[in-house]
Amino acid sequence: MRHSDPEGLYRALGVSPAADPDEIKNAYRRLAKETHPDAGGKGSEFQFHRIYNAYKILSDDNARARYDRRFTLEDAEHSWLGIHPVKCSRCRKVTAQPRTLTFERIYSILFFSFRRPTSGVFCTRCAQISSVRASFTTALFGWWAVPVAPFLTLRTIARNAMGGVRDEEADEELLWQNSRAFAAQGNRKLSYALATKLTTATDPDIAEEARELVEDMEARGANRRKIKLKDPWRIKPMAAMSHLMLAAVLPVGIGGVALQALQSVDIKDRPIHAAVDAVPPVDTSTASVPDALGANRAMPRGCWKEPDNGEVLYRINPRVAPGHEVALINDTDAAAIVKVRSAFSKRLIAAVFMYPHASAALGGIPDGYYIVQYAFGSRLNDSCVSFVDSSGSWQFPATENLRTIATGEGPQQLRYSLMADPAPAQAVKVPQNIFGQN
Ligand SMILES: [Zn+2]
Repeated sequence: MRHSDPEGLYRALGVSPAADPDEIKNAYRRLAKETHPDAGGKGSEFQFHRIYNAYKILSDDNARARYDRRFTLEDAEHSWLGIHPVKCSRCRKVTAQPRTLTFERIYSILFFSFRRPTSGVFCTRCAQISSVRASFTTALFGWWAVPVAPFLTLRTIARNAMGGVRDEEADEELLWQNSRAFAAQGNRKLSYALATKLTTATDPDIAEEARELVEDMEARGANRRKIKLKDPWRIKPMAAMSHLMLAAVLPVGIGGVALQALQSVDIKDRPIHAAVDAVPPVDTSTASVPDALGANRAMPRGCWKEPDNGEVLYRINPRVAPGHEVALINDTDAAAIVKVRSAFSKRLIAAVFMYPHASAALGGIPDGYYIVQYAFGSRLNDSCVSFVDSSGSWQFPATENLRTIATGEGPQQLRYSLMADPAPAQAVKVPQNIFGQN
């Protein structure tokens, strides 16, 4: 019988799932000596607890048998039940190979051009529709400023024609979520095909877990040659052409007249000024959210100013509309940083700064599985997303599943209250290096 080890208990001890009790005991003793913080070990408290927890289960015959049974053979018995396949944020249909995309529209007037991004998790069909819409709007309104608007317009339409701007790391997480969700639903072929694709993921955690799943399924007869995934995202020449035609219609027609009008204006007197990024996109659906940095991906390094209450210190994706929201109350005497991380890879999704005795909300969060962590302090470190002087950080115990509801009820809101000294049921202490890592 072949065991798998999805919670990594055997891996934590560096032994094979077939190891006998003596091997497990010896491995634990050696690792405990190496990592125990009080014994001058070089490991962190976190590593030590991971090893201790693994040993506690694997050294108990009954507990080990339960663990092995649970993670042997049947996908449906994996702890992935309750994970749902990703839905397109436009049409709400399940999509096997979603992509996190941004399509831009350009509006220009006289000397100014404004970018309005549309971001979301897309199925191929909705991506097609959204990209053509964005190009159409840009082809109508993008040209009409000097000097860079025509260049911006062409570049934007070209990008839309090539399928928009992608967030490949976010896509890996979505595919991994799908691979596990399909496994839990018994759709092993699709699960296997997606996992195969993820064995070369850039996120090392996802790649490793995907390789384990692939090995596991191949041991049960899955065949790489028989199960192949079509790429629905390859660029279709005719679709790309339609963008180019949109780009060409106006310049050829009315564009000629406009050019003549522009030529009659004395170019020398014109200020050299093109406020390309001057106006961040305004998302009216979440306008009440005190989200100071809006769509900016991250605050510049070097912490150029003391953050405001509710200021977003970091955001890996552009905010999604309509996104989910994390509502926060900091009822302590200290300033806090709250971090939302991917539950799977622990990758930092967003971080927000809070004043003492204040509330804030972090909006525009895409569908996914998250954990929420927080820490108190008064001085930011160089990365601008953690404190130098934090006395410790905490994590809310539940893994939150934020997903858009198919019935159209829309985005969800999670509410949290930060406490200076929470009971274990309300939050668990996490080592500082876990909180601090990006
Ligand atoms: Zn769709």
